Amino acid sequence: MLNKQEILDYLTVEDPQELFSRADKVRKEEVGDDVYLRGLIEFSNHCRRQCGYCGIRAGNHDIVRYRMTIPEIIACAREAKSKDYSTVVIQGGEDMAATADWMAEIIESIKAETGMAITLSLGERDLEEIKLWRKAGADRYLLRFETGNQKLYETIHPSLPGKKSDRFEVLSQLRELGYEVGSGVLIGIPGQTYDSLAEDIVRFGEIDLDMIGVGPYIPHPDTPLFTLPKAESGQVPNSVEMACRVVALARLVCPKSNIPSTTALATLEGVSGRLQGLSCGANVLMPNFTPAKYRQLYEIYPAKAVLSEAQTDLTEWLESIGRHRGKGRGDSPNRLLRG
Ligand code: SF4
Repeated sequence: MLNKQEILDYLTVEDPQELFSRADKVRKEEVGDDVYLRGLIEFSNHCRRQCGYCGIRAGNHDIVRYRMTIPEIIACAREAKSKDYSTVVIQGGEDMAATADWMAEIIESIKAETGMAITLSLGERDLEEIKLWRKAGADRYLLRFETGNQKLYETIHPSLPGKKSDRFEVLSQLRELGYEVGSGVLIGIPGQTYDSLAEDIVRFGEIDLDMIGVGPYIPHPDTPLFTLPKAESGQVPNSVEMACRVVALARLVCPKSNIPSTTALATLEGVSGRLQGLSCGANVLMPNFTPAKYRQLYEIYPAKAVLSEAQTDLTEWLESIGRHRGKGRGDSPNRLLRG
């Protein structure tokens, strides 16, 4: 396990190639050459929160809001199944009109019809809700803690009135409920220092994450963070290269985790961004199954790249880079090890 100083050295070394090669070797030894595909369904862009970086925050009145219907969501899952996907990721803002029972019905229906693994990414919901969804058949939950620096976190992610946001507490509840647990950080948030990012990466190992999703901060002009000043010294850049360093370090700290090459990487550098993620430790891709009419409305950051389900040559593309499309559910080896 790397210590904080070693992580800091890797974050700041001029040439990261040795880090990338080391992470790629560990990825190959620990989780192999398979790349698992997850079908992403962005079911709603309604959200009650006011995150300072997010284009679908409640305070942004310049976007058209949508919420897919149950039949629409199930149709997406059906389509993913027809293309041999074994996991769907149901993602949305903290949309309180998506009630616990409504979501449980979706989970049960998808499970009954397709048997696919179900990952939820629905923000900070109440314990009773995440309990119900687990009972309904949800397997995994993603909740990024974004930054462990409390002051910075409160700036970018204000709590709801009367309800303190504690994502680490939610992550531990998810673990206790038997979910496969995923989290991660934003890289290059204005005010984020190398020291703070190194502490976050140490934390990946301490909380023993099963999945780790990280991505560069991409400024959205309609958000408050757009004008937030940078740290006076030691500001982390929001570059693809820095995000790749964090992917690589995540692989070294949590060798058996599932780590996606995220959409944010592709947004900044297209196919090459995704490829870079896969070459420095990532082993998961999340093609988008959201219907075209909704896709561009899920604009957490601008000009979001969309790895379309229509990209039928993904299996071939993976072979061309020496990787293989994973078969089966692709559960996190880290989770399986824990039993
Ligand atoms: S980051 Fe998530 S919780 Fe925050 S405003 Fe955006 S969708 Fe809502």
